[in-house]
Amino acid sequence: MERVILLKLGEIALKGLNRQTFENRLMGNLKRRISRFGKFEIRSAQSTLYVRKLRGPEEAVDQAFEAAGDVFGVVARSMAAECDKNYEAIRDTALAFLGERFSEVKSFKVDARRSDKRFPMTTPEIMETLGGDILEKYPALRVDVHHPELICMVEVRDHAAYVHGEQLPGAGGMPVGSAGEALLLLSGGIDSPVAAYMMAKRGLSLTAIHFESPPYTSERAREKVLDLAKKLERFTGRLPVYVIPFTEAQLAIRDTCPEEYFTIIMRRLMVRVSSMLAGEKKLGALVTGESLGQVASQTLGAIAVTEECADRPVFRPLIGMDKEEIVQISRKIDTYELSILPYEDCCTVFTPRHPRLKPRLSEVLEWEEKLGAEKLAEAAFRGAKLYGAEEEGEDRGTKE
Ligand code: ATP
Ligand code: MG
Repeated sequence: MERVILLKLGEIALKGLNRQTFENRLMGNLKRRISRFGKFEIRSAQSTLYVRKLRGPEEAVDQAFEAAGDVFGVVARSMAAECDKNYEAIRDTALAFLGERFSEVKSFKVDARRSDKRFPMTTPEIMETLGGDILEKYPALRVDVHHPELICMVEVRDHAAYVHGEQLPGAGGMPVGSAGEALLLLSGGIDSPVAAYMMAKRGLSLTAIHFESPPYTSERAREKVLDLAKKLERFTGRLPVYVIPFTEAQLAIRDTCPEEYFTIIMRRLMVRVSSMLAGEKKLGALVTGESLGQVASQTLGAIAVTEECADRPVFRPLIGMDKEEIVQISRKIDTYELSILPYEDCCTVFTPRHPRLKPRLSEVLEWEEKLGAEKLAEAAFRGAKLYGAEEEGEDRGTKE
């Protein structure tokens, strides 16, 4: 009995003419994600991807099934057994493949789909006959067409027949890379990794930028951010991180600007440097983990002043979320425990006691003039160091 993974496509099935591009992107992403376990063949037919192992240990199929649960663009997945297209083979496969489940549950039903209309039995016939044969082998079972504990699904397709039980949810969303590329401002906190997950889910391929201020921020703080990026890769695909040396800029701000403006000017500098990098790497948007009103730098006024120096859209997927909701997602994507490790972030190095909640752009601009903000940003940008790029071109949503 050969096991085959069936992945149901979501929104991408609705994309009309673009559908082929989307499907190819998804297949590329999936292939990169599962090829570490073995060699697989991926076929696409009728809004379903069929993933079959060509080489590798049997457990590779289970590993691929698990990993496929993180691939955006898939709404549901099931492990199926493939068999010949004749009723006896289907029956034997169903009894063997789902035997254990049949002895665990109390009720079931058979559901069937037949895209090969030459198959000699109609769908109701398959359902009825197989249901009867299952009952004969498991007489304690009962058929429940409305709320069965187990649905035994039979699909008679063009090239073979498939039998499967439970369907598990997929990751949903759109294939990474299908919506373009963006630059993620990644801190070591709880929020920005969640923002990464949310935008990758909508099909953005991400590159990260992280600002550090040694010796005020430690090597371990940087390691933590790189670890976070690695953790995110199960959703985002390869996530390179540019680390920007920010000490000089922060010291200059501290020595030149009034304390109440430290944070806003620093954040504007971050956005400036990010815009430069995004420009160079052709990344169409910036992504941050900001949430309205969460801290002084995230009031409407502060966000407006910060955004003023961005030269492309800034996506803030968490803008309307409560911390509790954000934490929930960070637990789900398994970044929470890393995020709460108590390492310093450059944002917290020279925190003013009383930051301006309603910064005035005209004043900010004056201070930036005195500071030479543009030059500082350029210097910081030139110091960028790339991490996590060893496997250039691998596992990137955008590179097929
Ligand atoms: P997070 O939990 O993501 O750190 P936060 O609640 O601590 O967010 P801020 O520190 O104000 O909020 O940061 C807001 C956003 O700015 C972050 O979500 C992130 O996108 C970006 N950011 C903050 N610090 C850094 C940094 N050191 N490097 C890169 N981006 C940063
Ligand atoms: Mg932070």
